[in-house]
Amino acid sequence: MLMQLEGKVAIVTGGAGGIGAALATALTENGARVVLTDIDNTSLGAIAAQIETTSPGAVASIAGDASSVDHIEATIDLAESRFGPVDMYFANAGIMGAPYLAPDDAWATTIDVNLMAHVRAARRLVPEWIERGGGYFVSTASAAGLLTQIGSATYSVTKHAAVGFAEWLNVTYGDQGVRVSCLCPMGVDTKLLRPDASPHEDAMIMQRAVETAGKVLTPDEVAEIVMAAVDDERFLILPHPEVLDMYRQKGADYD
Ligand code: NAD
Repeated sequence: MLMQLEGKVAIVTGGAGGIGAALATALTENGARVVLTDIDNTSLGAIAAQIETTSPGAVASIAGDASSVDHIEATIDLAESRFGPVDMYFANAGIMGAPYLAPDDAWATTIDVNLMAHVRAARRLVPEWIERGGGYFVSTASAAGLLTQIGSATYSVTKHAAVGFAEWLNVTYGDQGVRVSCLCPMGVDTKLLRPDASPHEDAMIMQRAVETAGKVLTPDEVAEIVMAAVDDERFLILPHPEVLDMYRQKGADYD
């Protein structure tokens, strides 16, 4: 049990499976209370029911689009009414996105989900956190947000932007009590990487990159990495093990 999480109120987007479900499970097992949200209402209900059996009373759920301002507002309202003010926001929902040649509206959807959802949530919560003296924003970007050689154009570009936004949040508000971490996995065994769920060729490009780079993590292993980082006060890029070395070779000096 991580004492730092006891009684904390967290929102996890994209929580109906994969990394989001594992994060929500780990958070509640460590004493936090979680509002779980996802656009996939059916899987969301199943995951929430599963968490309720292991951590009774620690989870609430609401379906909707993580990039919608109205939905962000409704999710925060639910968290506040059920559990209290929001301490942590896990901007985790993500999509593989459209191929490079897709029309602008397909690019716009990818930008909305993979970047603007983070911006809109932070814009809503960060001023409140500064006033209250603290909050923790965890962005799920991707190794494709650090390295251009993996992922599709839309995925890689929006994930680079998510890393950039997390860095900007930290530089701008880090000294006002707002903590930021940016999770950059590569190759986690979730439906995002399965060709049947992401049928276009970009999912294959990603899979090949994963096979070349090595270890595929389980969502629970990713959640463990995040839980281990909870008491670290620095800005963190939480990488896939193999990715950090590749990233350092580019001259980056992140831990
Ligand atoms: P996943 O597909 O299991 O989970 C993503 C979830 O986001 C799904 O439940 C989906 O329904 C939800 N979602 C999609 N669009 C949404 C929207 N507009 N609003 C709300 N929910 C929405 O895959 P995952 O691997 O668990 O992905 C979680 C995050 O991790 C994503 O941001 C993804 O880009 C990132 N990521 C995954 C990998 C990997 O190898 N699996 C690698 C790097 C980064």
